[in-house]
Amino acid sequence: MSYSNIEKLLLMLEESKRFYDFDKIKRAYTFAAEMHEGQYRVSGEPYILHPVAVAQIVAQLGMDTDSICAALLHDTVEDCGTKVNLQVITQQFGSEVAMLVDGLTKLVHIPFEDKEEEHMENLRKMFLAMSKDVRVIFIKLCDRLHNMRTLSVKNDEKRRKTALETMQVYAPLAHRLGIQRIKQELENLALSYLDPIGYAEVKGDIEVKYGENRDFIFSIKKQITDKLQENGFNFELDGRVKSVYSIYRKMFNQNKSLDEIYDFYAVRIITHTELECYTVLGIIHDTFKSIPGRFKDYISTPKPNLYQSLHTTVIGREGIPFEVQIRTQKMHEIAEYGVAAHWKYKSGEKGKEDIDRRLEWVAKLVETEDDTRDPDEFMRALKVDIFQDEVFVFTPKGDVINLPQGATLVDFAYAIHSQVGNRMVGGKINGAIAPIDRCPQNGDIVEILTSNTSKGPSRDWLSMVKTSEARNKIRQWFKKEKRTENITVGKSEVDRELKRYGRPYTPAQRDEICYHISSRMGYQQADDLYNALGYGGITLAKIGVKLKDEFDRIIKPAIPELPSDETQIPVRPHKRNFSGVIVDGVDGCQVKFAKCCNPLPGDSIVGFITKGFGISIHKRDCPNVAELSAKEESQDRFVSAYWDTEATQTKQGGENLYEAHLQIFAENDMMLLANITRALADMKVTLHQINTQNKGGDMILNLTIGCKNTDHFKSIISRVKTIDKVTDVKRGYA
Ligand code: MN
Repeated sequence: MSYSNIEKLLLMLEESKRFYDFDKIKRAYTFAAEMHEGQYRVSGEPYILHPVAVAQIVAQLGMDTDSICAALLHDTVEDCGTKVNLQVITQQFGSEVAMLVDGLTKLVHIPFEDKEEEHMENLRKMFLAMSKDVRVIFIKLCDRLHNMRTLSVKNDEKRRKTALETMQVYAPLAHRLGIQRIKQELENLALSYLDPIGYAEVKGDIEVKYGENRDFIFSIKKQITDKLQENGFNFELDGRVKSVYSIYRKMFNQNKSLDEIYDFYAVRIITHTELECYTVLGIIHDTFKSIPGRFKDYISTPKPNLYQSLHTTVIGREGIPFEVQIRTQKMHEIAEYGVAAHWKYKSGEKGKEDIDRRLEWVAKLVETEDDTRDPDEFMRALKVDIFQDEVFVFTPKGDVINLPQGATLVDFAYAIHSQVGNRMVGGKINGAIAPIDRCPQNGDIVEILTSNTSKGPSRDWLSMVKTSEARNKIRQWFKKEKRTENITVGKSEVDRELKRYGRPYTPAQRDEICYHISSRMGYQQADDLYNALGYGGITLAKIGVKLKDEFDRIIKPAIPELPSDETQIPVRPHKRNFSGVIVDGVDGCQVKFAKCCNPLPGDSIVGFITKGFGISIHKRDCPNVAELSAKEESQDRFVSAYWDTEATQTKQGGENLYEAHLQIFAENDMMLLANITRALADMKVTLHQINTQNKGGDMILNLTIGCKNTDHFKSIISRVKTIDKVTDVKRGYA
């Protein structure tokens, strides 16, 4: 077994001058080497060379001890059978390493196959969602990079499959995370397997063209160097050619020849400060003629993946255009290593704020509870829960279905097809029967059991499902399949609401009410409204106001009308009470007369259900009635009340049972009081109370009297008005 690779790795770590737990790394290596003992790669090399190579790439990204350990151990759980499990890893290397290894192991099971682009995006999201920690993705990318570097030993089919997957999943992820260096290498390697001829052609063309123009490249580099040195700049210059894949894509996607590609030649200038970038740009534009519209300032407006740089295209000798990229060292590292570049900076080094700002997009991507921490720690604890609100699950065929968190098997069924949902009779998660309201988790394989004899969805499903898609499809089904049933359901929904209004109505009246609402809503007939309520197309809440409107209009206003003709008073089996009042719908209830208006038999009255004092009877025109009926909370406390004419006229007819208030306005006169009391006595009116107020020369007398009914009261008023010095008589108090 070769130890040279691990020694190379350790040497590299030592040279990096960063802090590593060398003992832990060595233990991880020894553990992995033991576990992979006797395993060989297709190339015939010992298997352990692969994890070590991956760990090297991980170390190049500047990642931490735990990441390097996880890289060394990444294939042990997957490949070494029962010898290794997460418990063993946790015991020996701690929970962080175990978590990373677990994340890497889980990613193995995502079946990336030749899928359409829409599925690819879901797969990429799932990949991110399943990597609990961003380090898992970085290690996975390093793993993939090493596999791509050593892909040539595999058979054709395996190469094609791996290369395609790399192009569709891994390179875009590397791009999203801003790791340009890995992205480019992955793309170039993948292309070389997917289109070997095209790759060779473009690569050859580039080399030829580059060779032909070696002088050109040399001369512009020299020109730039001289100019910048003249201005006293300290900088690095890199003349380079675009990656084969990026040229290839431009040539084939935009159908351009190599000569038409402006940024075929590129020079990169790396400065120390942002300000220098702009100064250098000025010098470049002074020295060369620039092509209008080709200048891009990604420093003030970074790309979504955090890339920062100034780009401009200028024309060099012999009219050959070339691109100039200007950036600081840090921008350069971010461009090469993306988020991982963060590990390359120690806290305390200058520009911590700078890093924080650059990591903002990751922070946006990844919610953290506390973003005030040191960026080092922040990154370590970074959780990839970008898609925490989403769940990615598989169909048995391997398609990925994207559902919101908390979605059920029913949602899943409808996400596949409405016919699957409508014929659903059960479901399985990872092969085991599961209740249909179970919520599948990331990576679960979900199978829906259907039957042609299924009776269709159940109404409970409407409250069970999480997605509006499923809800709409279920409603559609009910709308189409169950009109009769919906109408029944709709009617009972309406009844439930109308009963709350507390006044009796007939089914015909309900239909009339709903007919009016239907036409207001553009339906043909009441049944359409019931149907819509039944399948959930509209909710009761939505038509509540209209329902109340029509109800009040058709049944009775909020305050019941007292029949004017006494013969119309229904003789109902209501319990008669001594008040002489029949209260509609409420038997054996305590009745009292409201002091505010003192109703008399013959007055239009209404009952009001008080809190704890039975029913108080008001005159319908009492100001308090108007006030109470205007308040929503007291509206349904009104009840119909009628005078029991028989009782008030015969049984108790001879008695002055009812209190009334009388207000008399008069000029001050010695005899006034005597005249009034005499008149009342003549009319056999009981006088309960009397008080007088003097207002200048005038008097106001407030009397409480007992009388029989309104007619009696009216005759009292007429009689009192005839008394000498009386100017006016009114009912009630002023
Ligand atoms: Mn591997």
